[in-house]
Amino acid sequence: MAIKVLTEQEIDEQKQYMKKVANLMAGKKYHIYTMGCQLNENESEKLSGMISEMGYIFTDVPEEADLVIFNTCCVRENAEDKILGQLGYFKALKRNKPDMVIGLCGCMAQEPHMVEKFNKTHGQHLNLIFGTHNLYQFPELLYKAINENEKMIEIWDMDGTIAEDIPIKRESKIKANVTIMYGCNNFCSYCIVPYVRGRERSREPKKILEEVQKLAKEGYKEITLLGQNVNSYGKDLENPITFAKLLESVVKIDGIERIRFVSPHPKDFSDELIELIAREEKISKCIHLPLQSGSTEILKKMNRKYTKEQYLELANKIKKAIPNVLFTTDIIVGFPGETEEDFLETMDVVRKVRYYSAFTFVYSRRVGTPADKMLDQVDEDIKSERIGRLINLVNDILEEENEKLVGTVQKVLVEGYSEKNKDMLTGRTDGGKVVNFEGDSSLIGNMVELKITEQRKWYLAGKLL
Ligand code: SF4
Repeated sequence: MAIKVLTEQEIDEQKQYMKKVANLMAGKKYHIYTMGCQLNENESEKLSGMISEMGYIFTDVPEEADLVIFNTCCVRENAEDKILGQLGYFKALKRNKPDMVIGLCGCMAQEPHMVEKFNKTHGQHLNLIFGTHNLYQFPELLYKAINENEKMIEIWDMDGTIAEDIPIKRESKIKANVTIMYGCNNFCSYCIVPYVRGRERSREPKKILEEVQKLAKEGYKEITLLGQNVNSYGKDLENPITFAKLLESVVKIDGIERIRFVSPHPKDFSDELIELIAREEKISKCIHLPLQSGSTEILKKMNRKYTKEQYLELANKIKKAIPNVLFTTDIIVGFPGETEEDFLETMDVVRKVRYYSAFTFVYSRRVGTPADKMLDQVDEDIKSERIGRLINLVNDILEEENEKLVGTVQKVLVEGYSEKNKDMLTGRTDGGKVVNFEGDSSLIGNMVELKITEQRKWYLAGKLL
């Protein structure tokens, strides 16, 4: 099926439904559970925007809410257990609060076997289920669920949609996520994303730039551009442009002081992009370069389309062009067929690249993916022994790299008070490191220079210059 770009009229129709719900529900409370990646967080911000337009007020006590939405992720198996546990809890709660409306959306809603499971075990108290391609339709579905007391299940099986101008309520007033594209065409053999998020579709650059300009006017200082593979941004547009060209335009927007992006696929990382990052001060020098495995054999089975050597060559090329670069990564341990030798290749890349941080995962089987059908699945105890070794190595490197920062001066965007110590301010370096320091509340939202005085593994201590 084709990609559907929503018309203004279709969005307006939903705005009418927002008004109708507001007439019925203004002043009621809502809560959203968000699982998974930054793209899901960004979609929860859109849900929040729509729900607020409908007159609801956010509560962080879910038991108090009249509307509870589960925005799910299906990348890892334990997410399923978590969500089923939560739904069970709300089933009990709803006995005393029968008017509570419970909705479920996100990636799990696009998996037919999960929808069947939800209906079987929690069908009676789930009021609405909608998928990733029709998030914009939420006001209409909610209205029908409330007004017509109907159970609404609306999931589209298609290549996807692009919906612009949906209200948004952002978590932070300082840094914002901006989704630049949806879906993925890569079909890595372990990954469920292309099946639940559809094919790659880029937003028009004009719409992205308008959103960033608006954020700059509102006082936002840091922007993260999001996509499953930002390096293929723009290829599908009527007038194709590269991701580097889009980034170059974002850099020119006054007021935005730091720009990040996730995730780039190593196979598509262009020289144009490397040169731009090296040249533009505003673009973070912390690059997320997903490795997944250091073994060429395993990378081939993963359908990653690069070898260990090509990955290392790319990392070295970036280091040469941007000497102060910091790398972060994602690594999967225990992919089907992974031998001890394959795992040691991964450890070798970690030692060579010296990641500043790494998201490490034990391979998790996903129904519907080619890797799930591979016969040479690795034993759980071998997986956990390997991930233990990998985490130790990553942590050792992290401490050594943090130690190098002590005594240096870092630019830090001040985000607020530290959660652990309310007398201290907290912010992040260009490399994404948390730094706590003493300072006045007037600094919140500003970029400051700090001298790093101490490293404590998960955060740094600094002193205002
Ligand atoms: S690039 Fe691979 S891992 Fe990333 S979303 Fe696409 S298929 Fe999944």
